[in-house]
Amino acid sequence: MPVEQATLRRLAQIPNLSVSEHASLSRYTRFGIGGEAGLYVETPVEQSFMAALGIVRASGAETAVIGSGTNLIVSDAGFGGIVLRFTAGGISSEGGMVRAEAGAELQAVVDYTIEHGLRGLETLTGIPGSVGAAIYGNAGAYGHSIHERVRQVRFFDGSAVRTIGNGECEFRYRESIFKRRKEWIIFSAELELSAAASDDLRKTADAIFQVRLEKYPASMQCAGSIFKNLILAELPEAVRRQVPDRVVREGKVPSAYFLEQVGAKGIRNGGIQVAAYHANLIYNAGGGTARELCEVIYDLKLRVKERFGLLLEEEVQYVGFPEKLTSA
Ligand SMILES: Cc1cc2nc3c(=O)[nH]c(=O)nc-3n(C[C@H](O)[C@H](O)[C@H](O)COP(=O)(O)OP(=O)(O)OC[C@H]3O[C@@H](n4cnc5c(N)ncnc54)[C@H](O)[C@@H]3O)c2cc1C
Repeated sequence: MPVEQATLRRLAQIPNLSVSEHASLSRYTRFGIGGEAGLYVETPVEQSFMAALGIVRASGAETAVIGSGTNLIVSDAGFGGIVLRFTAGGISSEGGMVRAEAGAELQAVVDYTIEHGLRGLETLTGIPGSVGAAIYGNAGAYGHSIHERVRQVRFFDGSAVRTIGNGECEFRYRESIFKRRKEWIIFSAELELSAAASDDLRKTADAIFQVRLEKYPASMQCAGSIFKNLILAELPEAVRRQVPDRVVREGKVPSAYFLEQVGAKGIRNGGIQVAAYHANLIYNAGGGTARELCEVIYDLKLRVKERFGLLLEEEVQYVGFPEKLTSA
């Protein structure tokens, strides 16, 4: 549904709001893929964000909230509704309590905590994207995820700003309540950290960063891992028996293991490539489209389903697609 002129006029009256018509979403995704948004709206001011969301929802237009676009596949046709982004990126602390606004880059928060001698986020170094999305998807790496440090999250539920504690966030592996309640928009979070020597934290972070850079070169147009890993205990017995002990890490089987068995490495479809060194890493090698990317994802899901009877689940989030397009 095209965005109505009346909606545009009302949005234009909100202070501190930047509104763009026909914004190409490929500019806002690390894949560099995606058509136009009916309207793209961003602001660093909570009041302006809430006012805009109120107008947009009252207009009946569809909405999508994005962060830094590092975990998104946007359709080639774009998104006919209104894309919103909350960009406030303040970071502050009091003792071991760090408060970060949702638009802050996670790496900026990691660096801040290291500089302030606070332990707990250093293993998340190199995970691209914003704090809001990191909480939404319970981002993590090297055996830790952000939920271990979240004390509380402040968000807009569509009618009021609320704060919930860690337990109410219902964190699980790459999951939180915010993934199920997509209408809840995270504004900020408080993280609880412990004191440590900055130099030690920096050493840990630098070592991780180097390893990550080799796997994900800075210019690579990708979303990190496409599929979630699988929890060993939840796999059917027949599949579990086929998984060698050496591939199990922290009770999880990397989906890359199953993808490798079905010949995923190195697959190419137009401009889309599965990394030759990592079966769960798909990137845009140049000129790739969302259609090509979804074809690869569909093909890989089908292969794993046929061979192992398993349904891989995407970690990456879709914008502008009908659900059924990508289900194997
Ligand atoms: C090279 C590379 C490596 C990666 N490695 C890892 C890794 O090791 N571990 C890991 O966990 N992830 C990894 N990722 C994935 C990605 O970094 C995370 O998913 C990240 O949290 C996404 O942040 P973003 O701001 O880019 O979110 P986006 O991609 O813009 O959005 C992701 C989702 O978050 C939601 N969202 C964004 N902001 C808000 C908000 N304020 N309130 C509510 N919902 C919101 C959006 O609606 C969307 O559904 C990697 C990605 C890349 C490109």
